[in-house]
Amino acid sequence: MSEKLNPDELCPCGTDLIYQDCCWDKDFDWVINDEGECARVIPVNADVEEALDNARKVFIDIFGREPYKTDPMFPLKYFHNEDDLERETIKIMRESGMRPEIVYAYEKTGGLLVTEENWNMLPTKDQELWDEAIDEYFYLQDNPPEEDQFEAAGAAIIEDLRRMIIVFGYILEYGQSESYKGDYSHSKYISIDEYALTCAARSFKTLRAIKFLLDNSIGADSLALARSIYESYLHIVFIKAHSEKIESFFALQLGIKAGTHVYAKNKKGNVDRRTVIRIEDGACMDGHISMYKMASSSKEPLDTEIFDSLYEFLSEFSHAGLSYLTKTDSVDITRTELQFEAVFYTSTFSIFILEQLVDLSILTEEAKKDIEVITKSVSNNLLTFLREAHEENNDNPAIKLIKSRIQKIHERECNA
Ligand SMILES: [Zn+2]
Repeated sequence: MSEKLNPDELCPCGTDLIYQDCCWDKDFDWVINDEGECARVIPVNADVEEALDNARKVFIDIFGREPYKTDPMFPLKYFHNEDDLERETIKIMRESGMRPEIVYAYEKTGGLLVTEENWNMLPTKDQELWDEAIDEYFYLQDNPPEEDQFEAAGAAIIEDLRRMIIVFGYILEYGQSESYKGDYSHSKYISIDEYALTCAARSFKTLRAIKFLLDNSIGADSLALARSIYESYLHIVFIKAHSEKIESFFALQLGIKAGTHVYAKNKKGNVDRRTVIRIEDGACMDGHISMYKMASSSKEPLDTEIFDSLYEFLSEFSHAGLSYLTKTDSVDITRTELQFEAVFYTSTFSIFILEQLVDLSILTEEAKKDIEVITKSVSNNLLTFLREAHEENNDNPAIKLIKSRIQKIHERECNA
Protein backbone atom coordinates (compact mmCIF):
# COMPACT_ATOMS: atom_id res chain seq x y z
CA MET A 1 0.00 0.00 0.00
CA SER A 2 1.13 3.51 -0.67
CA GLU A 3 -0.29 6.85 0.36
CA LYS A 4 0.20 10.47 -0.56
CA LEU A 5 3.22 12.05 1.06
CA ASN A 6 2.58 14.45 3.95
CA PRO A 7 2.39 18.11 2.88
CA ASP A 8 5.07 19.18 5.40
CA GLU A 9 7.66 16.59 4.27
CA LEU A 10 10.58 17.63 2.10
CA CYS A 11 9.51 17.39 -1.55
CA PRO A 12 11.23 14.41 -3.23
CA CYS A 13 11.79 16.36 -6.45
CA GLY A 14 14.94 17.95 -5.06
CA THR A 15 14.09 21.63 -4.58
CA ASP A 16 14.68 21.75 -0.78
CA LEU A 17 11.07 22.95 -0.36
CA ILE A 18 8.38 21.14 1.60
CA TYR A 19 5.87 19.23 -0.51
CA GLN A 20 3.07 21.73 0.17
CA ASP A 21 5.14 24.65 -1.19
CA CYS A 22 6.48 22.65 -4.13
CA CYS A 23 4.70 19.93 -6.11
CA TRP A 24 1.49 19.74 -4.02
CA ASP A 25 -0.86 21.18 -6.66
CA LYS A 26 0.64 19.39 -9.65
CA ASP A 27 -1.25 16.92 -11.87
CA PHE A 28 0.49 14.02 -10.13
CA ASP A 29 1.03 12.78 -6.57
CA TRP A 30 4.17 11.97 -4.65
CA VAL A 31 3.39 8.79 -2.73
CA ILE A 32 5.25 6.72 -0.17
CA ASN A 33 4.90 2.96 0.25
CA ASP A 34 5.24 0.68 3.28
CA GLU A 35 8.97 0.32 2.70
CA GLY A 36 9.35 4.10 2.83
CA GLU A 37 10.08 4.40 -0.90
CA CYS A 38 8.89 7.47 -2.76
CA ALA A 39 7.27 7.30 -6.18
CA ARG A 40 5.51 9.66 -8.55
CA VAL A 41 2.02 8.56 -9.49
CA ILE A 42 0.85 9.99 -12.77
CA PRO A 43 -2.57 9.57 -14.34
CA VAL A 44 -2.40 7.13 -17.23
CA ASN A 45 -4.08 8.03 -20.50
CA ALA A 46 -5.38 5.58 -23.10
CA ASP A 47 -2.16 5.59 -25.16
CA VAL A 48 0.00 4.74 -22.20
CA GLU A 49 -2.44 2.07 -21.10
CA GLU A 50 -2.28 0.47 -24.52
CA ALA A 51 1.53 0.57 -24.56
CA LEU A 52 1.69 -1.06 -21.13
CA ASP A 53 -0.76 -3.72 -22.20
CA ASN A 54 1.26 -4.51 -25.34
CA ALA A 55 4.46 -4.73 -23.31
CA ARG A 56 2.74 -7.14 -20.94
CA LYS A 57 1.70 -9.33 -23.90
CA VAL A 58 5.29 -9.40 -25.18
CA PHE A 59 6.47 -10.45 -21.73
CA ILE A 60 3.92 -13.27 -21.49
CA ASP A 61 4.78 -14.41 -25.01
CA ILE A 62 8.45 -14.80 -24.08
CA PHE A 63 8.29 -16.07 -20.50
CA GLY A 64 4.94 -17.85 -20.58
CA ARG A 65 3.85 -16.13 -17.38
CA GLU A 66 2.63 -12.81 -16.04
CA PRO A 67 5.46 -10.42 -15.14
CA TYR A 68 6.35 -10.30 -11.44
CA LYS A 69 5.99 -7.00 -9.66
CA THR A 70 9.74 -6.46 -9.90
CA ASP A 71 10.01 -7.35 -13.62
CA PRO A 72 10.75 -4.68 -16.22
CA MET A 73 7.67 -2.98 -17.61
CA PHE A 74 9.10 -2.97 -21.15
CA PRO A 75 11.04 -6.18 -21.99
CA LEU A 76 12.06 -4.75 -25.38
CA LYS A 77 14.34 -2.33 -23.55
CA TYR A 78 17.16 -4.87 -23.96
CA PHE A 79 17.32 -4.07 -27.66
CA HIS A 80 18.46 -0.54 -26.95
CA ASN A 81 20.56 1.30 -24.48
CA GLU A 82 19.69 4.73 -23.18
CA ASP A 83 22.27 6.38 -25.41
CA ASP A 84 20.64 4.81 -28.49
CA LEU A 85 17.21 5.99 -27.50
CA GLU A 86 18.40 9.50 -26.78
CA ARG A 87 20.39 9.69 -30.00
CA GLU A 88 17.49 8.38 -32.08
CA THR A 89 15.06 10.76 -30.43
CA ILE A 90 17.35 13.73 -31.05
CA LYS A 91 17.68 12.72 -34.68
CA ILE A 92 13.92 12.52 -35.12
CA MET A 93 13.44 15.83 -33.29
CA ARG A 94 15.90 17.59 -35.59
CA GLU A 95 14.43 16.03 -38.72
CA SER A 96 10.92 17.04 -37.73
CA GLY A 97 12.06 20.66 -37.53
CA MET A 98 11.61 21.03 -33.78
CA ARG A 99 12.95 24.31 -32.37
CA PRO A 100 16.67 23.93 -31.59
CA GLU A 101 16.37 25.19 -28.00
CA ILE A 102 13.89 22.38 -27.30
CA VAL A 103 16.27 19.78 -28.74
CA TYR A 104 19.11 21.30 -26.70
CA ALA A 105 17.10 21.22 -23.47
CA TYR A 106 16.04 17.61 -24.13
CA GLU A 107 19.68 16.60 -24.51
CA LYS A 108 20.90 18.74 -21.62
CA THR A 109 18.31 17.52 -19.11
CA GLY A 110 18.90 13.89 -20.07
CA GLY A 111 15.55 13.31 -21.70
CA LEU A 112 12.96 15.79 -20.43
CA LEU A 113 10.53 16.90 -23.08
CA VAL A 114 8.36 19.73 -21.93
CA THR A 115 5.23 21.02 -23.62
CA GLU A 116 2.41 23.29 -22.49
CA GLU A 117 0.27 20.19 -22.03
CA ASN A 118 2.60 18.32 -19.73
CA TRP A 119 4.02 21.30 -17.82
CA ASN A 120 1.93 20.64 -14.74
CA MET A 121 2.87 16.95 -14.77
CA LEU A 122 6.49 17.83 -14.02
CA PRO A 123 8.03 18.16 -10.58
CA THR A 124 9.16 21.71 -9.80
CA LYS A 125 12.82 20.67 -9.97
CA ASP A 126 12.42 19.38 -13.52
CA GLN A 127 10.67 22.59 -14.53
CA GLU A 128 13.62 24.55 -13.17
CA LEU A 129 16.14 22.34 -15.00
CA TRP A 130 14.19 22.74 -18.22
CA ASP A 131 14.04 26.52 -17.97
CA GLU A 132 17.75 26.70 -17.15
CA ALA A 133 18.59 24.59 -20.20
CA ILE A 134 16.49 26.79 -22.49
CA ASP A 135 18.20 29.92 -21.08
CA GLU A 136 21.58 28.26 -21.50
CA TYR A 137 20.83 27.54 -25.15
CA PHE A 138 20.24 31.23 -25.90
CA TYR A 139 23.23 32.28 -23.80
CA LEU A 140 25.50 29.93 -25.79
CA GLN A 141 24.11 31.30 -29.05
CA ASP A 142 25.46 34.71 -28.05
CA ASN A 143 28.60 33.38 -26.32
CA PRO A 144 29.76 30.30 -28.23
CA PRO A 145 32.23 28.16 -26.25
CA GLU A 146 35.63 27.21 -27.59
CA GLU A 147 35.56 23.94 -29.46
CA ASP A 148 36.48 20.94 -27.34
CA GLN A 149 39.72 19.69 -28.93
CA PHE A 150 39.29 16.12 -27.77
CA GLU A 151 35.81 15.87 -29.21
CA ALA A 152 36.94 17.42 -32.47
CA ALA A 153 39.80 14.91 -32.71
CA GLY A 154 37.39 12.07 -31.94
CA ALA A 155 34.93 13.27 -34.57
CA ALA A 156 37.78 13.41 -37.10
CA ILE A 157 38.77 9.77 -36.60
CA ILE A 158 35.14 8.67 -36.78
CA GLU A 159 34.81 10.51 -40.08
CA ASP A 160 38.06 8.86 -41.26
CA LEU A 161 36.52 5.46 -40.75
CA ARG A 162 33.76 6.35 -43.18
CA ARG A 163 36.28 7.76 -45.64
CA MET A 164 38.35 4.61 -45.44
CA ILE A 165 35.41 2.37 -46.32
CA ILE A 166 35.01 4.43 -49.48
CA VAL A 167 38.73 4.32 -50.26
CA PHE A 168 38.93 0.53 -49.80
CA GLY A 169 35.83 0.03 -51.92
CA TYR A 170 37.09 2.40 -54.59
CA ILE A 171 40.58 0.86 -54.77
CA LEU A 172 39.15 -2.64 -55.07
CA GLU A 173 36.73 -1.65 -57.79
CA TYR A 174 38.68 0.94 -59.81
CA GLY A 175 42.30 0.72 -58.62
CA GLN A 176 43.50 -2.36 -60.46
CA SER A 177 45.86 -1.95 -63.38
CA GLU A 178 44.81 -3.58 -66.65
CA SER A 179 48.41 -4.18 -67.64
CA TYR A 180 49.17 -6.18 -64.48
CA LYS A 181 51.15 -9.35 -65.19
CA GLY A 182 51.04 -11.57 -62.14
CA ASP A 183 53.86 -13.78 -60.97
CA TYR A 184 52.38 -17.27 -60.71
CA SER A 185 55.67 -19.10 -60.18
CA HIS A 186 54.73 -20.16 -56.62
CA SER A 187 51.09 -20.91 -57.34
CA LYS A 188 49.19 -21.13 -60.57
CA TYR A 189 46.05 -20.06 -58.74
CA ILE A 190 46.98 -16.72 -57.23
CA SER A 191 49.76 -14.11 -57.19
CA ILE A 192 51.10 -12.25 -54.15
CA ASP A 193 49.40 -9.05 -55.27
CA GLU A 194 46.08 -10.75 -55.79
CA TYR A 195 46.29 -12.34 -52.38
CA ALA A 196 47.04 -8.97 -50.78
CA LEU A 197 43.92 -7.59 -52.47
CA THR A 198 41.78 -10.42 -51.14
CA CYS A 199 43.02 -9.43 -47.67
CA ALA A 200 42.07 -5.82 -48.42
CA ALA A 201 38.66 -6.99 -49.63
CA ARG A 202 38.12 -8.92 -46.41
CA SER A 203 39.07 -5.82 -44.44
CA PHE A 204 36.67 -3.73 -46.49
CA LYS A 205 33.80 -6.00 -45.41
CA THR A 206 34.99 -5.89 -41.82
CA LEU A 207 35.16 -2.10 -41.91
CA ARG A 208 31.54 -1.99 -43.01
CA ALA A 209 30.55 -4.32 -40.18
CA ILE A 210 32.44 -2.15 -37.70
CA LYS A 211 30.73 0.97 -38.97
CA PHE A 212 27.38 -0.73 -38.49
CA LEU A 213 28.24 -1.70 -34.92
CA LEU A 214 29.60 1.72 -34.07
CA ASP A 215 26.54 3.43 -35.55
CA ASN A 216 24.63 1.35 -33.04
CA SER A 217 27.02 2.19 -30.19
CA ILE A 218 28.51 -1.29 -29.89
CA GLY A 219 32.16 -0.51 -29.25
CA ALA A 220 33.66 -3.48 -27.44
CA ASP A 221 32.57 -5.99 -30.06
CA SER A 222 34.01 -3.81 -32.82
CA LEU A 223 37.40 -4.22 -31.16
CA ALA A 224 37.26 -7.95 -31.87
CA LEU A 225 36.60 -7.12 -35.52
CA ALA A 226 39.40 -4.53 -35.52
CA ARG A 227 41.69 -7.36 -34.53
CA SER A 228 40.69 -9.28 -37.64
CA ILE A 229 41.78 -6.29 -39.76
CA TYR A 230 45.11 -6.49 -37.97
CA GLU A 231 45.33 -10.18 -38.82
CA SER A 232 44.67 -9.43 -42.49
CA TYR A 233 47.55 -7.00 -42.31
CA LEU A 234 49.79 -9.74 -40.91
CA HIS A 235 48.78 -12.03 -43.77
CA ILE A 236 49.93 -9.38 -46.24
CA VAL A 237 53.30 -8.73 -44.61
CA PHE A 238 53.95 -12.44 -44.28
CA ILE A 239 53.17 -13.29 -47.87
CA LYS A 240 55.29 -10.40 -49.15
CA ALA A 241 58.24 -11.81 -47.18
CA HIS A 242 57.54 -15.48 -48.00
CA SER A 243 56.14 -15.65 -51.51
CA GLU A 244 56.88 -19.39 -51.58
CA LYS A 245 54.07 -19.92 -49.04
CA ILE A 246 51.42 -18.34 -51.23
CA GLU A 247 49.70 -21.57 -52.15
CA SER A 248 49.29 -22.52 -48.49
CA PHE A 249 47.30 -19.34 -47.99
CA PHE A 250 45.34 -19.93 -51.14
CA ALA A 251 44.56 -23.50 -50.08
CA LEU A 252 43.36 -22.47 -46.64
CA GLN A 253 41.26 -19.53 -47.82
CA LEU A 254 39.85 -21.01 -51.01
CA GLY A 255 41.45 -24.25 -52.18
CA ILE A 256 39.89 -26.56 -49.60
CA LYS A 257 36.45 -25.11 -50.27
CA ALA A 258 37.02 -25.29 -54.03
CA GLY A 259 38.22 -28.90 -53.83
CA THR A 260 41.71 -28.35 -55.30
CA HIS A 261 43.34 -29.06 -51.92
CA VAL A 262 42.63 -31.27 -48.88
CA TYR A 263 43.99 -31.57 -45.37
CA ALA A 264 46.44 -34.42 -44.90
CA LYS A 265 45.51 -37.50 -42.85
CA ASN A 266 47.62 -39.23 -40.24
CA LYS A 267 48.24 -42.98 -40.03
CA LYS A 268 45.02 -43.54 -38.11
CA GLY A 269 43.11 -41.80 -40.89
CA ASN A 270 42.25 -38.65 -38.87
CA VAL A 271 42.52 -35.17 -40.38
CA ASP A 272 45.90 -33.53 -39.75
CA ARG A 273 45.41 -29.80 -40.05
CA ARG A 274 49.13 -29.05 -40.01
CA THR A 275 49.50 -30.12 -43.61
CA VAL A 276 47.56 -29.39 -46.79
CA ILE A 277 47.89 -31.46 -49.96
CA ARG A 278 47.39 -30.29 -53.54
CA ILE A 279 45.20 -32.98 -55.02
CA GLU A 280 46.50 -32.94 -58.59
CA ASP A 281 50.11 -33.86 -57.72
CA GLY A 282 50.15 -34.61 -53.99
CA ALA A 283 52.39 -31.61 -53.16
CA CYS A 284 52.42 -30.83 -49.40
CA MET A 285 52.28 -27.41 -47.80
CA ASP A 286 51.74 -25.76 -44.41
CA GLY A 287 48.23 -26.10 -43.07
CA HIS A 288 48.83 -23.65 -40.29
CA ILE A 289 51.01 -20.56 -39.97
CA SER A 290 50.80 -18.82 -36.61
CA MET A 291 50.02 -15.13 -36.31
CA TYR A 292 53.22 -14.72 -34.36
CA LYS A 293 55.22 -16.20 -37.22
CA MET A 294 53.51 -13.83 -39.61
CA ALA A 295 54.24 -10.79 -37.44
CA SER A 296 57.88 -11.72 -36.99
CA SER A 297 58.34 -11.99 -40.75
CA SER A 298 57.54 -8.29 -41.21
CA LYS A 299 60.25 -6.01 -42.55
CA GLU A 300 58.95 -3.39 -40.13
CA PRO A 301 60.96 -3.96 -36.92
CA LEU A 302 58.20 -2.63 -34.65
CA ASP A 303 55.72 -5.24 -35.82
CA THR A 304 56.91 -8.09 -33.60
CA GLU A 305 56.87 -5.84 -30.55
CA ILE A 306 53.44 -4.52 -31.45
CA PHE A 307 52.19 -8.06 -31.88
CA ASP A 308 53.54 -9.08 -28.47
CA SER A 309 51.94 -6.20 -26.62
CA LEU A 310 48.79 -5.85 -28.65
CA TYR A 311 47.09 -9.17 -28.04
CA GLU A 312 47.37 -8.75 -24.33
CA PHE A 313 46.22 -5.16 -24.63
CA LEU A 314 43.16 -5.91 -26.74
CA SER A 315 42.07 -8.65 -24.39
CA GLU A 316 42.43 -6.21 -21.49
CA PHE A 317 39.82 -4.16 -23.27
CA SER A 318 37.44 -7.04 -23.60
CA HIS A 319 37.63 -7.55 -19.84
CA ALA A 320 35.84 -4.24 -19.49
CA GLY A 321 32.84 -6.08 -20.90
CA LEU A 322 32.82 -8.30 -17.83
CA SER A 323 32.21 -5.43 -15.46
CA TYR A 324 28.48 -6.15 -15.40
CA LEU A 325 29.31 -9.24 -13.38
CA THR A 326 30.44 -7.09 -10.48
CA LYS A 327 28.00 -6.64 -7.68
CA THR A 328 26.52 -3.28 -8.46
CA ASP A 329 23.02 -2.80 -9.67
CA SER A 330 23.82 0.57 -11.19
CA VAL A 331 25.56 -0.89 -14.23
CA ASP A 332 23.58 -0.74 -17.44
CA ILE A 333 24.47 -3.96 -19.25
CA THR A 334 23.59 -2.46 -22.62
CA ARG A 335 25.70 0.63 -22.09
CA THR A 336 27.94 2.09 -24.75
CA GLU A 337 31.58 1.37 -24.24
CA LEU A 338 34.95 1.62 -25.91
CA GLN A 339 33.69 3.55 -28.93
CA PHE A 340 36.81 5.64 -29.38
CA GLU A 341 39.15 2.71 -28.77
CA ALA A 342 37.37 0.72 -31.45
CA VAL A 343 37.55 3.57 -33.95
CA PHE A 344 41.19 4.25 -33.13
CA TYR A 345 42.36 0.66 -33.63
CA THR A 346 40.22 0.14 -36.70
CA SER A 347 41.69 3.20 -38.41
CA THR A 348 45.20 2.33 -37.32
CA PHE A 349 45.08 -1.21 -38.69
CA SER A 350 43.44 0.02 -41.86
CA ILE A 351 46.32 2.37 -42.66
CA PHE A 352 48.75 -0.47 -41.88
CA ILE A 353 47.05 -2.35 -44.71
CA LEU A 354 46.88 0.62 -47.05
CA GLU A 355 50.58 1.22 -46.56
CA GLN A 356 51.24 -2.35 -47.68
CA LEU A 357 49.27 -1.84 -50.88
CA VAL A 358 51.24 1.09 -52.31
CA ASP A 359 54.09 -1.01 -53.69
CA LEU A 360 51.88 -3.62 -55.38
CA SER A 361 52.16 -3.62 -59.14
CA ILE A 362 48.52 -4.73 -59.42
CA LEU A 363 47.38 -1.21 -58.53
CA THR A 364 47.39 1.80 -60.87
CA GLU A 365 49.65 4.76 -60.16
CA GLU A 366 46.54 6.89 -59.58
CA ALA A 367 45.25 4.46 -56.96
CA LYS A 368 48.60 4.53 -55.17
CA LYS A 369 48.50 8.32 -55.04
CA ASP A 370 44.99 8.20 -53.62
CA ILE A 371 46.15 5.75 -50.95
CA GLU A 372 49.06 8.00 -50.01
CA VAL A 373 46.79 11.01 -49.62
CA ILE A 374 44.32 9.23 -47.33
CA THR A 375 47.08 7.50 -45.34
CA LYS A 376 48.75 10.82 -44.70
CA SER A 377 45.58 12.50 -43.48
CA VAL A 378 44.33 9.55 -41.40
CA SER A 379 47.71 9.08 -39.70
CA ASN A 380 47.77 12.79 -38.90
CA ASN A 381 44.29 12.61 -37.34
CA LEU A 382 45.25 9.53 -35.32
CA LEU A 383 48.28 11.31 -33.89
CA THR A 384 46.18 14.38 -33.07
CA PHE A 385 43.67 12.13 -31.34
CA LEU A 386 46.38 10.52 -29.19
CA ARG A 387 47.64 13.97 -28.25
CA GLU A 388 44.18 15.29 -27.33
CA ALA A 389 43.30 12.12 -25.42
CA HIS A 390 46.46 12.75 -23.37
CA GLU A 391 47.77 9.40 -24.45
CA GLU A 392 51.05 11.05 -25.48
CA ASN A 393 52.87 9.91 -22.38
CA ASN A 394 50.86 6.79 -21.79
CA ASP A 395 53.02 4.08 -20.21
CA ASN A 396 51.15 1.34 -21.97
CA PRO A 397 53.71 -0.31 -24.26
CA ALA A 398 51.11 -1.11 -26.92
CA ILE A 399 50.06 2.53 -27.25
CA LYS A 400 53.67 3.72 -27.33
CA LEU A 401 54.59 1.27 -30.07
CA ILE A 402 51.52 1.96 -32.13
CA LYS A 403 52.12 5.67 -31.86
CA SER A 404 55.70 5.23 -33.15
CA ARG A 405 54.40 3.10 -35.97
CA ILE A 406 51.77 5.67 -36.99
CA GLN A 407 54.40 8.40 -36.78
CA LYS A 408 56.64 6.45 -39.12
CA ILE A 409 53.81 6.01 -41.63
CA HIS A 410 52.98 9.68 -41.38
CA GLU A 411 56.54 10.83 -41.92
CA ARG A 412 56.98 8.50 -44.86
CA GLU A 413 53.86 9.89 -46.52
CA CYS A 414 54.92 13.46 -45.84
CA ASN A 415 58.23 12.81 -47.59
CA ALA A 416 56.64 10.88 -50.44
ZN1 LIG B 1 8.67 19.30 -5.70
